[in-house]
Amino acid sequence: MEYFNADIELMSRSELDIFVDERVRNTIRYSAENSPFYKRWFKKNKIDPFNIKEHEDLRELPIISGKTIRENQPPQRNEFLFKSVECSEVFTIHETSGTSGIPKTFFSTWDDWKRYAEKYARIFVSQGLGEGDRMAVCASYGMNVGANTMTVAAKRIGFTIIPEGKCTFPVRVMTTYKPTAIVGSVFKLIHLAQRLEDSGIDPKESGVEKLIVGGEGFAPESRAYLDKIWGLDVCNTYGSTEGAMCGECKIREGLHVPEDLVHMDLYNEKMKDFVSEGNEGKIVLTTLIPNGEKAGTVLINYETDDQTEVLSKEKCRCGRTHMRIKNPKRVSENVYLEETSFNRIDIESGVFHPQNMKYLTGEYEAFLYYDPVNNQTTMQVGLECRDIHSCDIKLIKDNFLSSFFKNNKILEDYFTEGIFDIIFRTVKTGDLGLYKLKGRPKRIVDRR
Ligand SMILES: [Zn+2]
Repeated sequence: MEYFNADIELMSRSELDIFVDERVRNTIRYSAENSPFYKRWFKKNKIDPFNIKEHEDLRELPIISGKTIRENQPPQRNEFLFKSVECSEVFTIHETSGTSGIPKTFFSTWDDWKRYAEKYARIFVSQGLGEGDRMAVCASYGMNVGANTMTVAAKRIGFTIIPEGKCTFPVRVMTTYKPTAIVGSVFKLIHLAQRLEDSGIDPKESGVEKLIVGGEGFAPESRAYLDKIWGLDVCNTYGSTEGAMCGECKIREGLHVPEDLVHMDLYNEKMKDFVSEGNEGKIVLTTLIPNGEKAGTVLINYETDDQTEVLSKEKCRCGRTHMRIKNPKRVSENVYLEETSFNRIDIESGVFHPQNMKYLTGEYEAFLYYDPVNNQTTMQVGLECRDIHSCDIKLIKDNFLSSFFKNNKILEDYFTEGIFDIIFRTVKTGDLGLYKLKGRPKRIVDRR
């Protein structure tokens, strides 16, 4: 199978744009008829939903966020104002807590599940998966819609799922069931490779032919390292409970956005307007609903915490016409310093400089401090060494700085002028502070 849904994936740009506008109209009509939140909003703002004719008109509608969802559900309200179907039509209920800790509720119908699975099925086929493959899924099941709908996608393509849910499964799973593909995050797959090596198995000889990463942003350097230790071309995916499932095809020149199922706009920092092409912006999503299908939660102009850039709307070398975006990164992982900013990913670029990986495990953490007397911000980077005694700190430092500053001349100037300083701390394995905390490791802590 070369394409999962050739009719849609190979549609010409002009056909696709018309198709998307039809779906935008249908989605608006559906929301005005079924979503208590939007019903009230159209009435209160005296906007006729039939005036929303194409995707540009979405700018007339409010931008909503996780906060809007929380304000329109219990305990703040008596009912779930974003729920757009009868309770009997809800297939699953999901909660995501995000950073605030207060959960947002998402309702999914079976139609929603089928659309999620369709998005993953297209991605998996574009990455070369097919009948006979066996995929170990290290993404968590439970409240995570991703792992579950990947499993439905596998059924539609015809391959086997080993639903591990995490990447700490025993090495025996590798030798007994011989997965041909693994889905996990970059760090989890680095750890797995290490565990295999410790058991005398070369990851390159393990039988795994495809590695699919997702779940968090990463630096190109860390992916290159993963490619090297597994001897594969690792493909990237980006997914969220809000319905954005994008993925790289084998060509690996950006993540394809399933434009017929999710509409993605990029807004500038002040959230006033779209960014012009070739610039980074905040991802704002609208889930598109096909005529006759149901959606449990309709989201129009949903502001995410991620930023990206459109790489191309031209046809990809794989033949697909759906636009391609840069690997998204989290806005909450941005660090702002006077006139510039950098992201956790930039720190990771420095750590994973290819020549550093002889000495480092890749695990790192960074802390930011501010000294008001000297008006100086200091970043302390903790690096985990394979062998603390033979770590070439001078080399690591130079490599780090060259990668870290490569796309940010202003930051380099601050460093030269002394407004910004970086100090390095090398530790032996297991000694980073992040191991002491539960949950997702916090790699950048701003203590200014
Ligand atoms: Zn492609």
